[in-house]
Order: sequence, then structure tokens, then C-alpha cells
Amino acid sequence: MTNTTPARILLVEDEIQMRRFLRTALNARDFDVIEASNAREARLAVTGRPPDLILLDLGLPDGDGIDFTRELRSWSQLPVIVLSARGREDDKVMALDAGADDYLTKPFGLNELLARIRVALRHAARSHARDNPETILHIGPLQLDPVRREVRIDDQPVTLTPLEYRLLWYLAKNAGRVLTHQLILRHVWGPGTSQTHTLRVCMAQLRHKIESDPAHPRILMTEMGVGYRLRDD
Ligand code: CA
Repeated sequence: MTNTTPARILLVEDEIQMRRFLRTALNARDFDVIEASNAREARLAVTGRPPDLILLDLGLPDGDGIDFTRELRSWSQLPVIVLSARGREDDKVMALDAGADDYLTKPFGLNELLARIRVALRHAARSHARDNPETILHIGPLQLDPVRREVRIDDQPVTLTPLEYRLLWYLAKNAGRVLTHQLILRHVWGPGTSQTHTLRVCMAQLRHKIESDPAHPRILMTEMGVGYRLRDD
């Protein structure tokens, strides 16, 4: 995607009214919109000419958006923003665990949706560079040099323990994404770890070193009942 090519958004939604509303709103913001009204059409759309981002309703007539996300993640890193009327914390965590980038509960504000779309697209555009193990990450006041294992905040060096560093690196590589406790534990501590308490302690230590006011974080954000997100705006 470049600045001259509008981003293509695949809208997977079975409610016609909702689809019409979103298509009109997104077209007005210069996004190209392709539509799918069920999981089967969504599969066809992503295997044809893949979009830049997917807006995905969870309750589809022929399947579940969570299964669709899990299936997609076995071969693609396309950003997925889940739209759901369910609003239950369990669904949110399941969708994010399955690999969704973000989650909005209906009804949501259009500005909120547009902001999330921008973050997800930016994250996708940067993720290629972030996959290179030698690329220095710059996110807001934060700078991470993976080769020298150096972390700077507002250009001041910060000393981290190896575990704190691994946690920060994982969050930074996924900046803007909501990461569930389970995802973070699996990637930072390894498979089989389920100690959210350990994660909470490590996060508190990290905030103490990174945030100017750890009680009111501006970089390492808590997603209540779900996980954490490194702010990317
Ligand atoms: Ca639905």
C-alpha cells in the first residue's frame, strides 16, 4: 500500500444495514471496500486478491468469525479488526487469542473505528521492517535496538532485565495491537506458562522504568480484563 493507492478493506458482515452504513462511511474516507456477507465469501475474497485489512463480524450465518480468524492466521498476517455485538469479555479474548488485531463492540463510533483502522494499517506496513531482527524500532518516545539490546526513552538509556526486555520487545513489535495475557505469556515466557500474576509483576517493573508516571501509563496501556497494548499513535 502506498499513499496514492487507497487501502482495500474487506467488510465481512451479514447485516445489510450495517454493511451499507460502513461501506458508505469508508468510501467517503477514500477506502476501497469489498463486501462479504458470510464466511464462505470472506474466504474467497482473501484468497483472490487479498485486501489490506479485514473488518470482521463474529456472528456469521455459516460460521464463526473466531474460527475464520484462526484459519486465516495459519497462512496470513492480514490485519483483522473484529466487530461484534456480543460485547462479552470471553469473545473478545477468544478473538484476540485467535489472532485478531483489535476488537470493537457494536455500537461503536465511526471515529473510533477509523482510528483503529489507521493503527492496524500502520502496524501492517511496519511489520515487514519489524520482522527484520536488526531493525531499530522507533515508537513515540521509545527506541529499541535489537542488535545492541539497547532501550532508550526520550533518548535516555534505560536498563532492563532480560525478561523485561523480551516483554517490551514483543509489545513493541506488535505496537498498536491488543495482546491478550495468554499471547504474551506464550511468546515471552514460553508455551505452558499461564501465570498472569508473573506477567503483571513484570509489567509493573517495566512501567516503573519506562513511564514518567507509572500509575498513569502513556505507553504501556492496560486493556481491562484482556491484556496489554503498546500505544502507537
Ligand atoms: Ca452478524
